[in-house]
Amino acid sequence: MDRDSAEWWELVAKGVLAVQRCDSCGLARFPARAFCAACRTEGWSWARLAPLGVVESWIVSHWRAPEPFTVVRVRPAEAPGCVMYGTWRGEREPRQGERVVPLFTDQPSIEWRPADASGSDA
Ligand SMILES: [Zn+2]
Repeated sequence: MDRDSAEWWELVAKGVLAVQRCDSCGLARFPARAFCAACRTEGWSWARLAPLGVVESWIVSHWRAPEPFTVVRVRPAEAPGCVMYGTWRGEREPRQGERVVPLFTDQPSIEWRPADASGSDA
């Protein structure tokens, strides 16, 4: 874990969803990188995002016993050029394109659950 990602985890521990935003061109980027891929400048700031994402895909892992668990790949609603991963916390399988909200745990880690309150609609 480098310094930039350590800062990101500190934000997560405070319940903040954030990505890097280039000071020069405004491009959002995640995971943390030293340079902007678009304009090659170094300056950046943390941009706090609305706690909302969209499921892009997911995998079910049977690697970590005893229960299989699902890892979702999510694009933050306010930074759709970035991808984040997290454990799925819905009562059912995720759906591609569905809106999800982050759950900040004290691990620290991010988990995702459906944005609709029930999480169990047909
Ligand atoms: Zn840039």
